[in-house]
Amino acid sequence: MEDPGKISHVVIVGGGTAGWMSAAFLSRMFPQRQMRITVVESAEIGTVGVGEATVPSILFFNQFVGVDEPTMMSASQGSFKLGIEFVGWSDPGARYLHPFGAFGAPMEGVSFHAYWLRARRRGYKAELAEFSLNSLAAQGGRFDWHVDDPHDPRSGMVHAYHFDASLYAQLLRRVSEGRGVRRVERTIRGVNLDPVDGTIASLALDDGETLAGDFFIDCSGFRGLLIGQALGMGYEDWSEYLPANRAVAVPSARYEDPVPYTRATAERAGWRWRIPLQHRTGNGYVYVADQISDDEAAGSLLAALAAEHPGNEILADPRFLRFTTGRRTRSRHKNCVSLGLASGFLEPLESTSIHLVQFGLMKLAASFPRAKDDPVATDFYNRIMADEMEQIRDFLIYHYHANRRVGEPLWDRMRALAIPESLREKIDLYRTRGQVIFPHQSIFVEPNWLAVMMGQHGEPEGYDPLADRMDDRQLAEYLQHMRIACRQAADRMPSHASVLERLAAAA
Ligand code: FAD
Repeated sequence: MEDPGKISHVVIVGGGTAGWMSAAFLSRMFPQRQMRITVVESAEIGTVGVGEATVPSILFFNQFVGVDEPTMMSASQGSFKLGIEFVGWSDPGARYLHPFGAFGAPMEGVSFHAYWLRARRRGYKAELAEFSLNSLAAQGGRFDWHVDDPHDPRSGMVHAYHFDASLYAQLLRRVSEGRGVRRVERTIRGVNLDPVDGTIASLALDDGETLAGDFFIDCSGFRGLLIGQALGMGYEDWSEYLPANRAVAVPSARYEDPVPYTRATAERAGWRWRIPLQHRTGNGYVYVADQISDDEAAGSLLAALAAEHPGNEILADPRFLRFTTGRRTRSRHKNCVSLGLASGFLEPLESTSIHLVQFGLMKLAASFPRAKDDPVATDFYNRIMADEMEQIRDFLIYHYHANRRVGEPLWDRMRALAIPESLREKIDLYRTRGQVIFPHQSIFVEPNWLAVMMGQHGEPEGYDPLADRMDDRQLAEYLQHMRIACRQAADRMPSHASVLERLAAAA
């Protein structure tokens, strides 16, 4: 006899990037016969329609859902991303790259950068970035894929994508529908709760129909239709740490030579993004409303675009977005999990929203409910999601906090910020010992933090004493060998533009 509590119908509310990522993921996870999956989306309400940069974990997601790279690049007008260039975050005008992937290679359990720091104390000149192939390739406008051979320096290459997230969602929709996912284009007017246990029983649609389900995924965007409005989960507001609460986005014509990295430029009242795609360039200004008006922010963004690329065509009117940084107090509750904007928001400084959708889906898979309400699985999920969001939050705070933009009100305020204790510990460890150590696994690990801390704080006072075990001559040879190997490998790579042309021709 069939178990009456078993989950056999999942209803996904929302057809934005989060909704279709969920549908693609679940339809790959469950054979069609075992699980009915329905996506409800409203043409009347539409999607947020921004979001163009990703982190490397997206490769695993695409692989899992069965989307190959050439198809994805062509369908979403994508380009390759090797990291993020930060301009003006420490001093105005200063720049550094946060590349994906490691610097050098660890030896005998000690991180490469500890050896490099030791050599620097003895007058070594080469920069840490010279030991990151991602960094060298990005700065030279080049791209190549990771190679699975530990003797090839390209084994250190790590990439992600820039893409049009709406087009990406459409691709995932086609994939999901091909696997039997049902799409209902309706606006939800109400949510019916079970009077006995308070779980979600069904959705009331605008045509008078009701749609029942066993488990619900809330991907309804900022409004949080199920998790917030129906189930009453509150929102933990992190604006005291990350005060940006508005953005304005403007697409411009594509660049002849799209660079393989995102650029994030610090501004008086926030920061500006630039993301090169195949068919256009994404631009936007994330800002703090009490520091600049909407009109001024749009004017400042357009003026910066005109100054950087005179004559570059602006393709649409500025689009304004409002948000509150933070997260749902519980992103999963009863028979509902929220993903995407419905579960919280962190500004796109390190391009983490799409990653958090993917991370949530993986953790949902690891704690899939045994019955409509599975409190043990729910608590486990909530704890892991809260940890990951807090780690990313701390990383973002660091970017603002470690600045030297003296005399600018927002930046003075961020330097003086009372930061979370978890971040204070990381900063002290880096400053005194040049180390970054994590209590939990997270999307951003040692090389990521190191790139940003080196870029904004500069070199630390000390280094891991275990790096002293190698003798001076051996260390000099090791550094020399690795530096030359990285340089030569980067110089042999094709240009990013030529790789994109080849992909487009093959599509
Ligand atoms: P939405 O796109 O808002 O979709 C909501 C869906 O719910 C829609 O289909 C809507 O029709 C449906 N819906 C809502 N109410 C109802 C109803 N009553 N009935 C039926 N359907 C309903 N992320 C990144 O990873 N990288 C980035 O570079 C990045 N940049 C960003 C920049 C900005 C300024 C902002 C605001 C976000 C950015 N993001 C980025 C986040 C990214 O855009 C979102 O995480 C992603 O698009 C997911 O959105 P969503 O699917 O949660 O919500």
